[in-house]
Amino acid sequence: MSKEVLKTRTVRVGGSVLIGSDHPIVVQTMCNTHTADVAATVAQCRRLAEAGSQLIRITVPSLSDVKALEQIHATLRSEGIDVPLVADIHFSAEIAMAVVPVVEKIRINPGNFHPDHEKARSLFGQFLQKCKQYDRAIRIGLNHGSLGKYIVEKYGNTPQAMALAAMEWVQMCIDAEFYNVVVSLKASNTVVMVQAYRELARLMKENGVVFPLHVGVTEAGNGNSGRIKSCVAISTLLGEGIGNTIRVSLTEDPANEIPVAQYLAHRYSDAPAALLSGREASILKAACDWGAPLLNHEVDDIPLEDAYLKDEILQACRRRFYKPEYIACPGCGRTLYDLENTFNKVKEHTSQFKDVVIAVMGCIVNGPGEMADADYGYVGEGAGKVTLYRKKEPVLRHIPEDEAVERLVELIRKDRED
Ligand code: SF4
Repeated sequence: MSKEVLKTRTVRVGGSVLIGSDHPIVVQTMCNTHTADVAATVAQCRRLAEAGSQLIRITVPSLSDVKALEQIHATLRSEGIDVPLVADIHFSAEIAMAVVPVVEKIRINPGNFHPDHEKARSLFGQFLQKCKQYDRAIRIGLNHGSLGKYIVEKYGNTPQAMALAAMEWVQMCIDAEFYNVVVSLKASNTVVMVQAYRELARLMKENGVVFPLHVGVTEAGNGNSGRIKSCVAISTLLGEGIGNTIRVSLTEDPANEIPVAQYLAHRYSDAPAALLSGREASILKAACDWGAPLLNHEVDDIPLEDAYLKDEILQACRRRFYKPEYIACPGCGRTLYDLENTFNKVKEHTSQFKDVVIAVMGCIVNGPGEMADADYGYVGEGAGKVTLYRKKEPVLRHIPEDEAVERLVELIRKDRED
């Protein structure tokens, strides 16, 4: 179905996974267990590998988790499970350096290596040398909500800014002659996400070196809404030949992400087909069929008889809003509460506020930054406490978890009365 596939370099992850060029689209997901809980993380990796995840990402929030990551890796290999592991690193060049000898791929946002941009560049240069030495792959992952002060001040907070920001790190990789690089520019807003990837693809093409792209909608939420939001945006890009590996982020069991990602990978490449129920397949098909025409403003309405599905697809493409817009992270080893149930509870109690964007985020480290343009945010602090945000400002801190949804509803209601 691709019009023209973007020709990229090929990235090798471990001994078995090839991303980019003419290789089938690679499907991946991420653990949501606590990394320090080695047994739980190994058990989840086993399930994810069986479900068909070709790469598995694991968060490494502290240096002490590096040891756990080593044990997880060794246990999986001793069981004959050879799915490459990807360490997910935020804000710490030290942890990024420490995981290089341990796993096959490392996801970083180099701009967050240090608040001083020149120091961040220098640390990234050292990191690349170490990755070269160990023959690792990396993902440069910039998200719309967490571009960093330097980037926002220099380029703004637009899809173009995201692409330009990524190009700085892309160029550093080229200068260091390190080519085992994948890039991602995720956003929860499908319009922003599609524009950012298109712009990055254009800039890399113009620059002469095109790295493979990891495509995904971040904080897509759960249920049909999360699946539809992911499908409209990812399919739009895959239909243009942009995207070599995908993650469908859902605030659910990560194994549920795999069949949706496999559906997309199979639709746009020679990847294996997904096992889906008839209803699920028809929802994904409709989202993929109508995503591009709506996002590209080629049509203003869609001829679907199923009113619910029509509403969901139109909202996912940001063409018509029939309910609040929800953003929820998928959760990971940093998540400090029951994210999935809390998210469902928030949705249940806020459905009357049609024109707001509400975010539910698993941790206080990345949650506030990643909420991007949410009007309100529910962010877990840990130890049974929650902080509520209005835009990017924390307005109610340390609220006991069992009161937090009610306080969020009060906050929104009060703002609307003022
Ligand atoms: S915001 Fe969610 S997915 Fe992101 S690091 Fe925090 S808990 Fe993990």
